[in-house]
Amino acid sequence: MYRPDLETAAPDIVRERQLARLNGLLARVLPGNAFYASKFGALASPLSWDTFAELPITTKAELVEDQAAAPPFGAIATCPPDEYVAYHQTSGTTGRPLAIPDTRESWEWWAECWQYVYAAAGVTARDRIFFAFSFGPFIGFWSAYAAACRLGAMSIPGGGLDSRSRLRLMESSGATVLLCTPTYALHLAEVARAEGISLRDGAVRVTLHAGEPGASMPSVRSRIEDAWGASAFDHAGGTEVGAYGFSCEARTGVHVNEAEFIAEVLDPDTGRPCDKGSAGELVLTNLGRAGWPAIRYRTGDIVSVGARTCTCGRTSLMLPGGIIGRTDDLIILRGVNVYPSSIEAIVRTFEVGEFRLVRTREGAMDALTIEVEANDAEAQSLGRAFRERLGVRIATRVVAAGSLPRFELKARRVVDNRSH
Ligand SMILES: [Zn+2]
Repeated sequence: MYRPDLETAAPDIVRERQLARLNGLLARVLPGNAFYASKFGALASPLSWDTFAELPITTKAELVEDQAAAPPFGAIATCPPDEYVAYHQTSGTTGRPLAIPDTRESWEWWAECWQYVYAAAGVTARDRIFFAFSFGPFIGFWSAYAAACRLGAMSIPGGGLDSRSRLRLMESSGATVLLCTPTYALHLAEVARAEGISLRDGAVRVTLHAGEPGASMPSVRSRIEDAWGASAFDHAGGTEVGAYGFSCEARTGVHVNEAEFIAEVLDPDTGRPCDKGSAGELVLTNLGRAGWPAIRYRTGDIVSVGARTCTCGRTSLMLPGGIIGRTDDLIILRGVNVYPSSIEAIVRTFEVGEFRLVRTREGAMDALTIEVEANDAEAQSLGRAFRERLGVRIATRVVAAGSLPRFELKARRVVDNRSH
């Protein structure tokens, strides 16, 4: 653990510390942050948990609107422009991209949050971390890179290279840790097989994944671990909120870093807190990012509420299975809610290649077809597995091996062919 004192503290001690930090943050932020000052109005000081629970939720649409009204960063940017040192933007898959800057202090806070992630995965200063990632304007693994420098591990950048060159560079540099999306780890394994490279004999002992939920799905994780002969860990984060979660050695889900975040899981329809065992939308407040604070921010991540006990000893909120889905990628088939991630979890229990989902409309009903690099028998078994495990009919269409797109960043496996 990075901070055993905080990570194993009793939940009421954690809550007390969170509230004190939240009040410190608000006192610092509100005078310079026109966005929250007008959103919250006059607030009692110090804030209590009851008042916190009544603060209005912050949505992405509000941030986009704020930024359009006061470009380039919006009224939510607390500090004068010269104080910002890092620039990132969201990918804009669900609308206009958000430009999000960090001050030096906030960027160091990102690196601090990543120390928890690295420690939980057993990554130390002796490791050589390979970033199979093209460093562009998206946050991707930029913060992991900053954190690796702070940790004292060696960073090996893999940007601007194709998969084959990346595999060669990993080998020649003696990389011990691989950072990439789960999909890309599987793709690298596919390329390695074709090239006759044995990853299991290589030096990589830990793979750390973000961008997609795969590393918390047993079927995806075991495929990555088998291919690499390494332990695969999950990490959850987002440009708007920061690096908020990580899997521990138990790897049954994602722990929320409650030393740096206040996590709420709310029913998307009623806005009320979800009980243990039920699923809802994760709403986060980051406590150390004064330059761009997210207060009660709707992440769009669907999670289920787990326990505060774990074999690793951490007392932080566990999200079993990690991020189950996104509010914006829910597919409703004849009244049944299906997330692409639950389909992926089933696909990966079969020895098939890449896949994608094609949405169409049949009359008034939505329909779904899976295109998959498999043989006919495998495709039929997949169809059966969907009916049995999801309770829905998903048509299968066999496509040639290697014919579907491969992804380095977040995989986009859903094609929407419904006419609107
Ligand atoms: Zn744990």
